[in-house]
Amino acid sequence: MIISIASGKGGTGKTTVATNLAVSLGKGVQLLDCDVEEPNAHLFIKPEFEKTISVGMPVPEVDEQKCTHCGQCAEICQFKAIVVIAETVLPFHELCHGCGGCMLVCPEKAITEGTRELGTIEIGHRNGLEFIHGTLKVGEAMSPPLIRKVRSYAKPDRVTIIDAPPGTSCPVIASIKGADFVLLVTEPTPFGLHDLKLAVGAVRLLGVPCGLIINRSDMGDDHVREYATGEGLPILMEIPFDRSIAEAYSRGQMLVDVQPEWKERFIGLFTRIQELVDPAKGDGIKLQKSG
Ligand code: SF4
Ligand code: SF4
Repeated sequence: MIISIASGKGGTGKTTVATNLAVSLGKGVQLLDCDVEEPNAHLFIKPEFEKTISVGMPVPEVDEQKCTHCGQCAEICQFKAIVVIAETVLPFHELCHGCGGCMLVCPEKAITEGTRELGTIEIGHRNGLEFIHGTLKVGEAMSPPLIRKVRSYAKPDRVTIIDAPPGTSCPVIASIKGADFVLLVTEPTPFGLHDLKLAVGAVRLLGVPCGLIINRSDMGDDHVREYATGEGLPILMEIPFDRSIAEAYSRGQMLVDVQPEWKERFIGLFTRIQELVDPAKGDGIKLQKSG
């Protein structure tokens, strides 16, 4: 089962939910941090990293000796990532989406596949929890291919928790598409509600069931709850504002470590999600508790 944790807005507590849910479920679970522009789940999980993998994407390299400057490569490219100016072909690797179209249409076979480095993936463990995150190279804008690569490590026989980037743009879609359930973390403020509505719209377009977690639930107003009721969105957990939780977060500590009673609540949250995804199975997915 794949559960993506998302939020329309940054700073709502998405990583708190993702890390605490993963640690509460324990051994055999995977946590994938797909917030590749600012990965921070590792600061709380503190995994032992065993492997670092460099991730690149294919980009065109042009052999000027073979090129006849026919312009077919520039014509097919939808991203203006390769242009022909007089007797020169210029590929712009930072605009290239790696579709390979230009290589296919070149009649002279003058285009070969080069590689542009996007970032790295690190794989580690903490007490039987498998942790994988991607880190986008500084200055690189193309995060979805790296996110897809991080997601390729999801194992079908595992419970996989994905910490998605904030917002509703392409990187978020790459992190929630194909998930079994999306948990949207929000806060009861006008900004929280505004961005929640955008996030719900994106999740519904993808046809993935979703539910809400309201963080700092004792602050703000009731408009998020009213919206959830009106839209038939289940509120699966409320986390009140607590200074000790905020202080623990700022020290890089897990909520379940400073207030262990939350572990059972996160396990209960997972059971609710299982029931929503497949009511017939209930607690069908067994977990190996880490104790
Ligand atoms: S399609 Fe091939 S031959 Fe034509 S301009 Fe592009 S690289 Fe040159
Ligand atoms: S690989 Fe695709 S996106 Fe990149 S330059 Fe060629 S046609 Fe354009």
